[in-house]
Amino acid sequence: MNIIFLGPPGAGKGTQAQRICEALNIPQISTGDMLRRAKKEGTPTGLRAKEYMDAGKLVPDEVIIDIVKERLAMDDLKGGYILDGFPRTVPQAEALDTFAVIDTVIELDVPDEALVRRISGRRACPQCGATYHVSMLGGRETCEKCGETLIQRADDQPKTVLNRLRVYHSETAPLVSYYEAKGLLHRVNGEGDMDAIFAEIMKALQA
Ligand code: AMP
Repeated sequence: MNIIFLGPPGAGKGTQAQRICEALNIPQISTGDMLRRAKKEGTPTGLRAKEYMDAGKLVPDEVIIDIVKERLAMDDLKGGYILDGFPRTVPQAEALDTFAVIDTVIELDVPDEALVRRISGRRACPQCGATYHVSMLGGRETCEKCGETLIQRADDQPKTVLNRLRVYHSETAPLVSYYEAKGLLHRVNGEGDMDAIFAEIMKALQA
């Protein structure tokens, strides 16, 4: 099954996508993670993406479309995949339709106030990419998985968060109607207990 996870920054797409991938035994393709890796490695794409990412803007469509097209051509995806963070604009969705067949789209719905709280309190491991919320860390400053010192991502700073939400509403939210019109959209309430949200998503995938 080829699945898209749609939703604003901080809605829990990454975390839930990871759990669903484990449950279905399919890979998760996170364009944010791919770009962060490229940025860290200093590849030409990473260097180009950095200024957009740090400002909370979207990287240009042509850059990200090429990256995703190349990734989706790989052999490990025969059994399906979850796209997390792509598409983010209508042109990206239209391009995707030319090289992939999407079976279902999950929209995680969370109000803006909750998103700002979640993202501004997020701390990330620069080594393995694990994320935490400060309220769960109890003062600890290192990653539970690999021991690295946690950081606040440049794009998780409060000013940038508001910009990312603005970008979501203007560029990405139109995809909700795009996939609704195709009869592929399942809306799931992204607030509340993580296990309950996971169960809702699994139910939607089996519908
Ligand atoms: P994310 O972790 O998905 O929130 O992505 C982090 C940043 O990477 C975004 O704020 C964008 O700058 C960039 N990015 C990730 N996916 C895309 C995409 N599909 N289109 C454009 N920019 C993207």
